[in-house]
Amino acid sequence: MAYKKQFEEESTCLECGKAFYGRKDKHFCSLSCKNMWHNRKVRERRHLRMEVMAALARNYEILNALLKEERVSAELEELVKAGYDPAFVTGHRKGLYRHDEYTCFDISFYRTSTKIFNVRRKACDGH
Ligand SMILES: [Zn+2]
Repeated sequence: MAYKKQFEEESTCLECGKAFYGRKDKHFCSLSCKNMWHNRKVRERRHLRMEVMAALARNYEILNALLKEERVSAELEELVKAGYDPAFVTGHRKGLYRHDEYTCFDISFYRTSTKIFNVRRKACDGH
């Protein structure tokens, strides 16, 4: 069948790696491979989301502990040793003058390459 041949070509299944013939835009040898691949992607995305949320929660606990000790600054090195990961914040605002403001939920602070300072809890005034 010349017609069929024209539109089918050899591909490699993204899930099992098996070679198969199919339409150019087909990526899987079977429906079950397609489902397995998609289910794994969904699990991987959920896992990544959970890791980000866990990192934010850990950062928040560490910042919160500083406030409890009435500290307004800390060396990043000290925080990182305690499990803090500077890559995870919930907000970032370019500084008007020099330092950018970062937030982790209701706690905000300024950051240089070696430390954070002016750690404070944002006012929750109900507005
Ligand atoms: Zn397959």
